[in-house]
Amino acid sequence: MKNYKIINGVILSFRGDALVTEKKTLYIREGKISFSPFTDSEQYETVDAGHMLVMPGLINMHTHAYMTMMRNYADDVPFQDWLFNRVMPVEDNLPVEAAYWTSMLGFLEMITTGTTCFVDMHMYHRQSALAAKEAGIRAYIGRGLVGEDLFGDGYSRYKQALEEMEEFRSDTMDFILSPHAIYTCSEKLLGQTAEAAREKGMLKQIHLSESVTEVEDCLKNHGKTPVAYLYDMGFLDEKTILAHCVQMRENDMELIRDSGASVVTNVASNAKLGNGIAPLCQMKDLGINVCIGTDGAASNNTLNMFREMGLLSLMHKAHARDCLAIPSDYIVKAAILHASRALKNPAIGNIEEGSAADLVFVDLNAPSLFPNNNIVSSLCYSANGSEVDSVMINGTFVMRKHELLTIDRERVYYEIEKIVKNHL
Ligand SMILES: [Zn+2]
Repeated sequence: MKNYKIINGVILSFRGDALVTEKKTLYIREGKISFSPFTDSEQYETVDAGHMLVMPGLINMHTHAYMTMMRNYADDVPFQDWLFNRVMPVEDNLPVEAAYWTSMLGFLEMITTGTTCFVDMHMYHRQSALAAKEAGIRAYIGRGLVGEDLFGDGYSRYKQALEEMEEFRSDTMDFILSPHAIYTCSEKLLGQTAEAAREKGMLKQIHLSESVTEVEDCLKNHGKTPVAYLYDMGFLDEKTILAHCVQMRENDMELIRDSGASVVTNVASNAKLGNGIAPLCQMKDLGINVCIGTDGAASNNTLNMFREMGLLSLMHKAHARDCLAIPSDYIVKAAILHASRALKNPAIGNIEEGSAADLVFVDLNAPSLFPNNNIVSSLCYSANGSEVDSVMINGTFVMRKHELLTIDRERVYYEIEKIVKNHL
């Protein structure tokens, strides 16, 4: 593994909850960040990061990478119709092998727009794991679980999830138990999943309170909100990641806070599918750990975290009619630091001694960012992702000066065109 000395860059890091930007030299040893210089006997390459911001990689906390080939395929369609009549029929017919390429297409967009780590959920987890390994992107792979009984009709999926974990778990890949939603999983299966996660020390994620229909059905079927339903069965804890949480009622947010679970907000997907706006200001004020996800490209329609960050701040300022509602530094923390907290992985999400070298080099001379009056604000209000010049993950460059080093873009496009032609 190559060592690097990164000079002349402006480094963005977190000290506690504060954001700091300063000129500093970084030494990347064996994939880890250090501030102590190389000795005479150590070999390294010098990287000139002049006019660059060197920041910890963005972490996309909720996506379905394989869906990227469905970008702009079923737009302007109501949520239930979109999911059950447009997306699911494609999934039923997609050959499993195709998901390798459709996932790779997602990673291509993630890397070129500064995402170094993502949390995935779907049924093509093995293909995503293979592609993520090849692309060198940090991954939390989740096999979507549905059904009545984790050890009955849901068992083959659960077994697969554990087998893949055994096969692929590495420095840059981990696994997360992923019951799909309360309306596709029985109470029994949800309880079993929570127990299995605790037993195995695994993280778990679920889509929750995404639409009004989901909340109304839950009130009708269980006499309580989706959040209360999960809280009462003991599903929520510090290793639980809740995607969406748009339609919150009564004391849902207090229950989430008390449980220590993290929330992933997906502002573009929720807006586009007409599901509403999550109560981000209240969640922030309550001290809930909120992270950011793009959701899949079929409902967003991009995996670009910079776009998501800008939109998230603007939408909530407009919604709250308060320009101070969600400041830019909160957004940057949510996209990086809060994610590492939710994933219980302090080795990522910061630039500090010993952390993994997941670094994004942002060109501060890009027309959209110049002049650099406020770098943190610019990441939220000005950046569009095209300013990402180079990306390093776990100490290895996966993109350098806009050139992808682990993904063959032409081959990916060729394969995707074939898949789209035959399966959409
Ligand atoms: Zn989702």
